[in-house]
Amino acid sequence: MSIELKNISMKFKDTMAVNDLNLTIDSGKLVSLLGPSGCGKSTTLFMLAGLYEPTEGSILFNGKDVTKVVPEKRNIGMVFQNYALYPHMSVLKNIAFPLRMAKVGRKESMERAVQAAKLVEINHLLDRKPGQLSGGQQQRVAIARAIVREPEVLLLDEPLSNLDAKLRLTMREEIREIQQRLKITTLFVTHDQEEALSISDQVVLMKDGHLIQHGDPRDMYDLP
Ligand code: ADP
Ligand code: ADP
Repeated sequence: MSIELKNISMKFKDTMAVNDLNLTIDSGKLVSLLGPSGCGKSTTLFMLAGLYEPTEGSILFNGKDVTKVVPEKRNIGMVFQNYALYPHMSVLKNIAFPLRMAKVGRKESMERAVQAAKLVEINHLLDRKPGQLSGGQQQRVAIARAIVREPEVLLLDEPLSNLDAKLRLTMREEIREIQQRLKITTLFVTHDQEEALSISDQVVLMKDGHLIQHGDPRDMYDLP
């Protein structure tokens, strides 16, 4: 699915978190939103998810205006920085949750959750609770939950920031591999330049709510 942000702004009281952003993302690409803390990356992602409605501008998915469409109807999956797993639910139920919310039957939900779990290689952990998992395993649960409805857009908000250095590299490669296997249009938010350059088809550099550079990672050596 292609994504278009047209003159998007988001104002919180006196703060212009995102300021007149224009961006087109081609279907099946992985694009990083890169920039320092507070530059508007998460706000941009939340607007794509439908969790914030932009104060100005419009968002198009495959050319269709989804600016006012609620999150559940947007065909997106999202992974939050802290994973936001449900602590009292098993891994299986966590992964199946978006399907259950979408009124998919119990049996089909569980089967599809198991398939998603297999894709991230956690199908041996289905009966555990999130608190009984390592950071990397929790992240895999979050990814499985994000892709279980087979969304056409995947939104990742600093997904690697809570992992140790070694696991970051492993999970980075796995995310890229899954993204390419599923051919899912992906936005990857990070403040880590090396991470953005290594994982992406395109890098979008933000500063103070503005898009200041957008290009192929190989052409972006002179980043500030
Ligand atoms: P980043 O993800 O790049 O760290 P954010 O999008 O979270 O940046 O924040 C951009 C700016 O908007 C910051 O100045 C932040 O303080 C402000 N901001 C973000 N969310 C809110 C909110 N819910 N209410 C008020 N200000 C916010
Ligand atoms: P609970 O938390 O209530 O013990 P689980 O989360 O372990 O339940 O399982 C929820 C449902 O999924 C149950 O109906 C269970 O039979 C089913 N289930 C558990 N494991 C699997 C599996 N590997 N494949 C398919 N269904 C499963």
